Amino acid sequence: MNKTFYGKLIFELSTPGRIGYSLPKMKKNDYCVSELPNHLRRSKEARLPEADELTVVRHYTNMSNNNFGVDTGFYPLGSCTMKYNPKMNEEVAGLSAFSVLHPHQPISTSQGALELYYETQKTLSEIGGMSEFTLNPYAGAHGELVGLMVIRSYHMERGDSKRTKIIVPDSSHGTNPASAAVCGLEVVEVKSTAEGTVDVEDLKPLLGDDIAGMMLTNPNTLGIFEKQIPEISRLIHECGGLMYYDGANLNPMLGMCRPGDMGFDVMHINIHKTFSTPHGGGGPGCGPVGVGPGLEKYLPNPRVVKNEDGTYSFINTETACGRISGFLGNFGIIIRAYAYLLALGKNGIAEVGPLSVLNANYIKEKLRSHYLLPIDGLCKHEFVFDGLRPEFGGDHHDPNHVTTLEVAKRLLDYGFHAPTIYFPLLFHEAMMIEPTETESKDTLDSFIEVMKQIAEEARDNRDMLKNAPHTTPVRRLDDVKAVKNAKFKYFE
Ligand SMILES: *Cc1c(COP(=O)(O)O)cnc(C)c1O
Repeated sequence: MNKTFYGKLIFELSTPGRIGYSLPKMKKNDYCVSELPNHLRRSKEARLPEADELTVVRHYTNMSNNNFGVDTGFYPLGSCTMKYNPKMNEEVAGLSAFSVLHPHQPISTSQGALELYYETQKTLSEIGGMSEFTLNPYAGAHGELVGLMVIRSYHMERGDSKRTKIIVPDSSHGTNPASAAVCGLEVVEVKSTAEGTVDVEDLKPLLGDDIAGMMLTNPNTLGIFEKQIPEISRLIHECGGLMYYDGANLNPMLGMCRPGDMGFDVMHINIHKTFSTPHGGGGPGCGPVGVGPGLEKYLPNPRVVKNEDGTYSFINTETACGRISGFLGNFGIIIRAYAYLLALGKNGIAEVGPLSVLNANYIKEKLRSHYLLPIDGLCKHEFVFDGLRPEFGGDHHDPNHVTTLEVAKRLLDYGFHAPTIYFPLLFHEAMMIEPTETESKDTLDSFIEVMKQIAEEARDNRDMLKNAPHTTPVRRLDDVKAVKNAKFKYFE
């Protein structure tokens, strides 16, 4: 770490009078000088840092090195599918034919972009086993909202207005009940069994003519495949509801099975998890929504269609559930996903599922000697440990046990991002690990080795873990305040 720059803010590197540019002396009429009206002019000098160019470059380069990303290290964040973002995707999205497009230019001049959009809709429909997809939603949660709006539109159009409840499993991702509430639906929770899947006996008494549908994540957030789907889907359909599939992490399903074939009517996919586009920091994301036969007309406006003469155009329908984004959504991200789909091709896509499942099971089996595995058996793309095993200090009954938070903080010292912790809420010390298919066996092996080493440290050198991380620029932050109350201003 460079001591001159480390931890310093650019204002602290400032020296009065220093400048970071060199321009030729201005001669009269050389530049276009615009006359600002007086009331818009500064009354005081701007408080800007004064630094030479090299200091500025080093400052920002050093700062970027403090950021952890999938390009700097292994990022096994469960439920988030932090897979590699191929650089080729960036190059394709940066082609000027795409990057300078304007949504208001004549449609005859953007046919290539619309073709890409249409082909992505088609490809996702095939992958999901759905009739049609919209790419308009900006995120997974946004997709959930749109999917639920489609379900509500379907019931309302039939005059079936009393279907105001939606069933959501207790293991669901937090966005499921939140999206349902935003859509004006009442959330009814269904419990999980000890094996971590939906408890069908708990589901039955909830069914009735007020049920709009059920949201299900499969594999669920514990990484377990919901084997009872045919039965659940039959029960929901018999009571008049629709089945919603949360396909944020479709990874393990690619090449294995399709939600449409399992009886789901509506689904969303997270492009930014499953199809290798960047995420984190709130976006830019894309949460396409697919629907089965008969529900296409409720998809939001506008939709991109292919005409008989081979050209592409937008359509807007009156039956649509509404308009949910400006223009066509995050088009730049859709380009990246399309590049990824084409790069892998049908055969490559089919390898993603098996490899992501293999990688997760490999880590799980190698680490179960040190970490508590509450749900045994084959997992899909991710799995959950319930903290350290008792012999490594993880005994929950001991108020002084070594916590998952301590393990997660210590991982940072070894250059790994921590897994998702304390989610799902079903366990005390949850630690949710998802390696994805893009990691090599060498990376998985070094992660396994470090996780074992941390378990041994927890047993033998407790205090060191309590104070971890030791090597990061900042140590134990107030996680909530750091996000909700971030300070970006040097001067108040
Ligand atoms: C990530 C995720 C979501 C939400 O997606 P966002 O793009 O973050 O809004 C929904 N469901 C599951 C299962 C997820 O993992």
